[in-house]
Amino acid sequence: MRYRIEVTGVVQGVGFRPTVWRLAHELGLRGFVRNSSAGVEIEVEGARAAEFSAALRASAPPLSRIAGLVASEIPAVGAAEFAILPSREAGSSTDLSPDIATCPDCLRELFDPADRRFGHPFINCTACGPRYSITQRVPYDRPNTTMAPFALCPDCAREYHDPANRRFHAQPNACPACGPTVRFHLGSGQAPGARGRSALLAASALLRDGGILALKGLGGYQLACNALDANAVERLRERKRRSGKAFAMMAPDVETVSRFASVSSEEEALLASPERPIVLLSRAPGCELPAAVAPASADLGFMLPNTALHWLLFRQHREAANRGLEALVMTSGNLAEEPIVKDEAKAARKLSAFADGFLHHDRGIFMRVDDSVVRRSRGRTLFVRRARGYVPSTIPLPGDVPPVLGCGAEVKNTFTLTTARAALVSQHIGDLENHETLEFFLETLANLRAVYRVSPVAIAHDLHPGYSSTRWALEQEGIERWGVQHHWAHVASVMAEAGLAGPVIGVALDGSGYGPDGTVWGGEFLVADTASFERAASFHPVPLPGGEGAIRHPWRMALSYAMLAGGGSLPDRRAVRALVGRNSPSDAANVLKIRDNPALSPLTSGAGRLFEAVAALAGICDRNTFEGEAAMRLEAAAQGRLGESYPFAVTGKTPERIDFSQTIAGVLDDLERDAPASEVAARFHATVAAAVNAQVARIHRATGLTDVVLSGGAFQNRLLLEAVECGIAALGLRAHTNTRVPANDGGISLGQAYLLRCRLR
Ligand code: ZN
Ligand code: ZN
Ligand code: FE
Repeated sequence: MRYRIEVTGVVQGVGFRPTVWRLAHELGLRGFVRNSSAGVEIEVEGARAAEFSAALRASAPPLSRIAGLVASEIPAVGAAEFAILPSREAGSSTDLSPDIATCPDCLRELFDPADRRFGHPFINCTACGPRYSITQRVPYDRPNTTMAPFALCPDCAREYHDPANRRFHAQPNACPACGPTVRFHLGSGQAPGARGRSALLAASALLRDGGILALKGLGGYQLACNALDANAVERLRERKRRSGKAFAMMAPDVETVSRFASVSSEEEALLASPERPIVLLSRAPGCELPAAVAPASADLGFMLPNTALHWLLFRQHREAANRGLEALVMTSGNLAEEPIVKDEAKAARKLSAFADGFLHHDRGIFMRVDDSVVRRSRGRTLFVRRARGYVPSTIPLPGDVPPVLGCGAEVKNTFTLTTARAALVSQHIGDLENHETLEFFLETLANLRAVYRVSPVAIAHDLHPGYSSTRWALEQEGIERWGVQHHWAHVASVMAEAGLAGPVIGVALDGSGYGPDGTVWGGEFLVADTASFERAASFHPVPLPGGEGAIRHPWRMALSYAMLAGGGSLPDRRAVRALVGRNSPSDAANVLKIRDNPALSPLTSGAGRLFEAVAALAGICDRNTFEGEAAMRLEAAAQGRLGESYPFAVTGKTPERIDFSQTIAGVLDDLERDAPASEVAARFHATVAAAVNAQVARIHRATGLTDVVLSGGAFQNRLLLEAVECGIAALGLRAHTNTRVPANDGGISLGQAYLLRCRLR
């Protein structure tokens, strides 16, 4: 008997062929296995050939993911042995593996003085190492990666060609004799520096002495300093000029992380997973880290080392100082909102203002990919940023439709390409308003189109004419283009993940998105399916004084909301007087003057603006130093608690408007009697959740719909998300939210692509 078996999915670069080889030997079969650009092709011949497919499914390697397996009986040819054949081009594409953190076997060797790879920063095997970031073309073979310039030494070559070895066809296989090397430079990196082990020692000494190190990580440069050294952290913060945004940190093990943050067993598993994301954790009481690591947030973002190079930085230090480096700040090496830097010349140019020293290496980064950021909530993993370790894993979609492109929104941009039956969501690209990020978008798009061999037949884009992604889409000629309303795309991103066709009750809460009625949307209740949507309700629109600029100045929005609560005049209340006092009476007078001029102050129903107004009134945050800061500080102030809801009202019809002026009045009353900000924050969160749930209940009664979809950046607020979900469950309805892409604008492209695909079908 002879069978031909074609396997698709994540089946290359994950130890698949050695598994096939081993199974064939166990079952006494002859034939061959080879990688093709479509996946893996196998032919097996022998008495037990019929058992092979089931055996393969049962013992597929842990990092593989079989998307399709088709077996057909073919005539026997009388093969004499089982062979692993060279790869073949097959005209279609295979799924590429994401980059994978150093596995336990490799770690053991890394720290074994008797091993030939002792202390080698580029150790890897078929179960771990770089993949997506180094792959230039498929099939995934060494000459198609940035490892091509490194010729295997005889020892590495022997492993590479031995099907019984765990480095069989490990494409980035390397050792100190033949692999990439690290180099350390002080200052801007011009003078020749130390290499190899002395480079690692110099780099960790720099960290120990309070210096800032720019190091070439897996998907780009990172900036590191000792997280327990308040001076170093403050210096880095000053140099990066991002006053409030939390720095990610890296610690060598979960025990160390637990000294700074509380870690549940689920969070521990996530920290140690092969994806190695940054996990947002609650700060532990008495945490000794300086406030400057995360001034705006109650959470701390920690990750464990994801490459041997990171491991060695911690370990070198332990040897050198006899006291372990406990935690490093490990933040993206970039300027403000520019993409992460990936090559040496650019690093020297762009990062020398931040870094006291550089740790370079000569393995090229082809695709930049930033660290992923996740958090656990009620047994699920929620994405804040989806990149290293997760991309380019695909999300299955129904039907078989020609490929399309969703080009995303403006901030936190991602794009989504679809293949016949799956969505391929790009890594976090960033804020497209700057030129470098747009280049990153184009470079990643070109790469994924080539690797996956997809040529989109249509493009979906946001309706906002000012978004760079919209302008780019409209410049593409000879291809169908279709504008999708921002919040419909948010809702559709969840529908795509959950396989829902609708109609659903869609709740999209975020800062802002283009509304077709000329106002800025962002507190939206849609009745939506994949063909259309109706705006059933929204937050009551309020003037955004002076337009978009007010987004950086929550105190201006606070004045706008206070006017609403005062019925058109500014209430003479303590909190309002304090707000005006803090922000100069003349500026406040200006804000009030332009507030009612529709040409200068567009109306907005943005949920983010309401959060910002309350944060400013409560004295928590008058200015955003990064997007969403005031709302984040307000959530932190609530300390995970919900209080008694403030009143709110509902007015109008199609759309109904949720009017929060009584809520603002309640906030002012509480502040008048000197209630602590934490109590106001707890009551406010309860109010928004109650208002959302009451609105969902009304739409449910009117339509009979039972699936409720929650998306938009405001649902990254875990207190709000969980309160709304509880309320929906209490109504007997089903709540769905994003668990495979971020709920923020990083998920927009998936929703766009899903809707466009449905339209073409
Ligand atoms: Zn390994
Ligand atoms: Zn070697
Ligand atoms: Fe949005």
